[in-house]
Amino acid sequence: MQNQKLGFEESLGREVVNSGRCIGCATCVVVCPFNCLEYQKEQPELVKACEKCGICPKVCPRYDWSQSSVEEFVFGKKRDAKEDYGIYRRTIVAQATDKKILQRCQDGGVVTSLLIHALQNDLIEGAAISGLSTDEPLHPMPIMATIPEEVLKHAGTRYAYSPNILALQEGVRQKKKSLAFVGTPCQIHAIRKIQMFPLKKYSNPLQFTIGLMCTESFTYDGLFEQHLQKNMEIPLKNVVKMNIKGKIQVYLKSGKVESIPLSEAKQYARASCHLCGDFSAELADISAGGLGLSGWTFVILRTRRGEEIFDDASKAGVLQVRSAEEEPFAQSLLVKLSKRKRRNAQEK
Ligand SMILES: Cc1cc2nc3c(=O)[nH]c(=O)nc-3n(C[C@H](O)[C@H](O)[C@H](O)COP(=O)(O)OP(=O)(O)OC[C@H]3O[C@@H](n4cnc5c(N)ncnc54)[C@H](O)[C@@H]3O)c2cc1C
Ligand code: SF4
Ligand code: SF4
Ligand code: SF4
Repeated sequence: MQNQKLGFEESLGREVVNSGRCIGCATCVVVCPFNCLEYQKEQPELVKACEKCGICPKVCPRYDWSQSSVEEFVFGKKRDAKEDYGIYRRTIVAQATDKKILQRCQDGGVVTSLLIHALQNDLIEGAAISGLSTDEPLHPMPIMATIPEEVLKHAGTRYAYSPNILALQEGVRQKKKSLAFVGTPCQIHAIRKIQMFPLKKYSNPLQFTIGLMCTESFTYDGLFEQHLQKNMEIPLKNVVKMNIKGKIQVYLKSGKVESIPLSEAKQYARASCHLCGDFSAELADISAGGLGLSGWTFVILRTRRGEEIFDDASKAGVLQVRSAEEEPFAQSLLVKLSKRKRRNAQEK
């Protein structure tokens, strides 16, 4: 299968998109050298005859996926059965020291701090992140951030899907030589396949990846338009932040906090998320999650590169750090959610 040059229709079209497995990560759209695909309604759509070059099936995270081969590629070894949340070097709990970051970020502001530090110290020229759409409130939009102010502006989590690979494409278009990538675990899978292929145009500038722990993401028309706006009668423009801590918390401009039980929100989870077995971004250089903590980010340093980036930022004083041992609840939640997600995906 791997040596044949397959076209889109007989590979991704049939086995990923039509079978409901497509995540909507947009990787196939980005890599097609003939611009045969367009990204429409969170899916790839063939807009002209496929040249059957065989590239898109090589990079799709939902096609011909081998966890152990990717682990070998990233870490030089396969995971031990006891490594419940993947291979790593260290776990820590950290928080930004900059108050401006703490005011805007989701948890401890580690992701934003690392990116700003990397930009300010010329480790990167840009970061592929997610921002907010200017037209639709709370709708995420991939952004290539090239200055610290942009990274700060777009701190925080959007719970609908943001295909940040499109932002990576923008960075390459702008001929940036050094880039960071932030994304959900499924997007880190796509990045690793791009690096393994390798598609040098995209893999060469990449300096490091930050994966966001992820149970699921939600449809915009379901959770936001239907539930929040119609059922709960909350105008989306009045929402300043959302977070998930046992339930979905919705922070309003008025200062009020509404909540949605997770059992109610689950119906709006994107269908392809039910097939996903990676909670903690097991293949990222650095993984970051909230794990029930308040004002702190739980961080997993997985690769040497990830550890270097984090230590550099923490030595420069942009982060304060505590031992993950001080947070046994977060640690056990990490194990529980990782095992549960992998088991659920295997059962599907
Ligand atoms: C869809 C989704 C589901 C999540 N579910 C969980 C969970 O179940 N448990 C858990 O512990 N943590 C979860 N997280 C991670 C958590 O919300 C925080 O992103 C993480 O703790 C880092 O916090 P921070 O304060 O360090 O990040 P910040 O400094 O606030 O930076 C966050 C970064 O994430 C980027 N971003 C925001 N939304 C998206 C998006 N939709 N897609 C890609 N990038 C985005 C922003 O551009 C920003 O650069 C989820 C994140 C996402 C995006
Ligand atoms: S990348 Fe190649 S196989 Fe995929 S759609 Fe484009 S031309 Fe077809
Ligand atoms: S690369 Fe992403 S968008 Fe394209 S078919 Fe695969 S999962 Fe879907
Ligand atoms: S649950 Fe999986 S497929 Fe869905 S957004 Fe999160 S990482 Fe991607």
